[in-house]
Amino acid sequence: MSNSRRGDNFALKCFFDDLFVINIKQRRTHTEITLQLLTDDVLTEKLPQVSSLLEQFIPQIFEHNCFNGAQLSFAQEVKNTEIGHLFEHVLLEYISQIKFTREKKQTGLKGETYWDWNSEPRGTFHIVLSLSREESDVLLEALGKGVHLLKIILNSQTAQPAPKKELIDTLKRNKPPLNVF
Ligand SMILES: [Zn+2]
Repeated sequence: MSNSRRGDNFALKCFFDDLFVINIKQRRTHTEITLQLLTDDVLTEKLPQVSSLLEQFIPQIFEHNCFNGAQLSFAQEVKNTEIGHLFEHVLLEYISQIKFTREKKQTGLKGETYWDWNSEPRGTFHIVLSLSREESDVLLEALGKGVHLLKIILNSQTAQPAPKKELIDTLKRNKPPLNVF
């Protein structure tokens, strides 16, 4: 049974390149986000730059409490966790920053990520955030920033080092001696 009236929920579906699809439902008391990864890898272990990128963009994320099975700190957990779980923390951090800027006080935020790949495609994550429908503007701003960072993180997997140095070395080796006329 569903008691939600038509038009009661703010719902949105967005595609981001060929990396992921996001569905958003804002409820009266919380927000439900579905992240569907379109990439083969669903864990951060294949993304060796994840920690340094987080340090660069949102270092405060390493202060988060993280309730994971092995009782690891977030800094340890993030090295090998589900990308949906990482995205939950990224969103919580941006929401927290936006709310702090607006309200000048810390707000207690909670998030949870779950998945069931027996009944849904691998790489589908459900993220529930303690953000009410009244705060849809905060959510949209945080999503914009979170999606931007997630794209950078996912693209870091395939990023190849620029061949610049190698090219310069080759050019140096092939350079004729300066005193030849
Ligand atoms: Zn966590």
